[in-house]
Amino acid sequence: MTVLLKPQKLVDAKVREFSMLIDGKWVEGIEAGTIERVAPGHGVTVSRYKAATKDDAVKAIAAARKAFDHGLWPRMTASERSNILLKAADMIAARADELAYLDAIEAGKPITQVQGEIAGAADIWRYAAALARDLHGESYNTLSEGTLGVVLREAVGVVSIITPWNFPFLIVSQKLPFALAAGCTAVVKPSELTSGSTLVLGEILMEAGVPAGVVNILAGTGAAVGATMTGHPDVDMVSFTGSTGIGRLTMENASKTLKKVSLELGGKNPQIVFPDADLDAFVDAAVFGAYFNAGECCNAGSRLILHRDIADDVTTRVAALSQKVKVGDPLDPSTQVGAIITPQHLEKVQGYVSAAAGSGANVALGGSHIDFGFGQYMAPTILSGVKPEMAVAREEVFGPVLSVLTFETAEDAVRIANSVDYGLSASVWSRDFDTCLTIGRKVRAGTIWMNTFMDGAAELPFGGYRQSGLGRELGRHAVEDYTETKTLNMHIGARTGWWMPR
Ligand code: NAD
Repeated sequence: MTVLLKPQKLVDAKVREFSMLIDGKWVEGIEAGTIERVAPGHGVTVSRYKAATKDDAVKAIAAARKAFDHGLWPRMTASERSNILLKAADMIAARADELAYLDAIEAGKPITQVQGEIAGAADIWRYAAALARDLHGESYNTLSEGTLGVVLREAVGVVSIITPWNFPFLIVSQKLPFALAAGCTAVVKPSELTSGSTLVLGEILMEAGVPAGVVNILAGTGAAVGATMTGHPDVDMVSFTGSTGIGRLTMENASKTLKKVSLELGGKNPQIVFPDADLDAFVDAAVFGAYFNAGECCNAGSRLILHRDIADDVTTRVAALSQKVKVGDPLDPSTQVGAIITPQHLEKVQGYVSAAAGSGANVALGGSHIDFGFGQYMAPTILSGVKPEMAVAREEVFGPVLSVLTFETAEDAVRIANSVDYGLSASVWSRDFDTCLTIGRKVRAGTIWMNTFMDGAAELPFGGYRQSGLGRELGRHAVEDYTETKTLNMHIGARTGWWMPR
């Protein structure tokens, strides 16, 4: 039996109201329409954002363009920009409780988990502040006696930043501080389901000293606002995190004006386990990887690829531990798995489970929703006997559903791991160093964990191979992604020209 923590329906009576930030002012938008957010864990309206339209997006892009072409931000010293980013980081830390509460109620995420995400986000802002001061180009003094080559790094310009609902504050923090560190200006569109914490970030940035127009933030739909932000000719770069389908649309739209594009997309991440692994450690990581953020995580370890000799034993142990996972009120500090983002998404996740069962997979645990009378929740679910060709083994389910597959040889394991369209992350479990490195080199994914799962740090680049994305976030090159290079090729002394006497 899953441990259930029944939510309190009346989260707190207050509905938070948000405007949009354009050119340093909080405004209602041209049509003054609204988006209501009903808390997925509590079934009551908790936030109301002013809904931006296409015309609001055009105004926000114009403000960002003006701030980039004529404003102070790209012309400040790196140290001045860095100090403002550090101040923002301190203010994020000071308002951490409010930010965590907003993400917990709007996204249905466990409050203790989100507190960790906000602390991690503040750390990323500090890291970006440090990188701002280290952004530099290259020089070549060895090309010839009469030549000096200098390669400059210049801010790319106006960046459209589009984020999903599953890690609202963390993901905007993987993009915006690096764009700002480089001297760019931005239009930011959080998911229309979870815009609250990103709008609070707007208040923080204004107070920290980011000049008007440098950061503009709009709540709005992808079709109206997102499509404008990805297609508008005054935008120089699009940084998008979301589904592979919308990522593809984003790239198509941006291709009309050949914008620089960075994409962080879906995943179907394998955990490959050999018989000599520390199985106690693995069982814990399997449960964490599958149910963290209710499985609504690009990095979810949703495919266990277990060696045939240990598959039954490990599946039984993973199922036993899965039953101890605490599911329920996102605001209860002991909750480990909160709510599912929308009723439609819950239906989609359940559709995957019934289709897999219909094709011969065994529902070894869970499989159904949990009825608290309001909100939408799903029990931790394990499907065994899954075949690599089933949709549940190939597609991103984005719910608390774990598929168990088996392998016989290391080559099989690699083939199964690489047999999907995605390549975001993977893990390999073995006490043998050679096994870990051999598998780690052959699996095509942006991050390979060895004897651990879903660890990360601001210093470590993150992103996907193949249809999991394009480009990398974080790491010491993260600021460079928001730059163009310019070559200065200089001549020293008298020039011997084509028509000049030699
Ligand atoms: P989504 O693609 O539906 O939406 C993402 C964002 O795109 C939202 O802000 C949405 O409003 C906007 N959007 C929708 N249509 C658009 C359009 N036509 N043009 C421009 N923007 C548009 O994704 P989601 O459901 O919010 O998030 C879940 C997805 O995000 C999953 O696939 C997950 O794997 C992925 N994700 C990836 C990473 C990563 O780092 N690789 C991290 C988190 C989430």
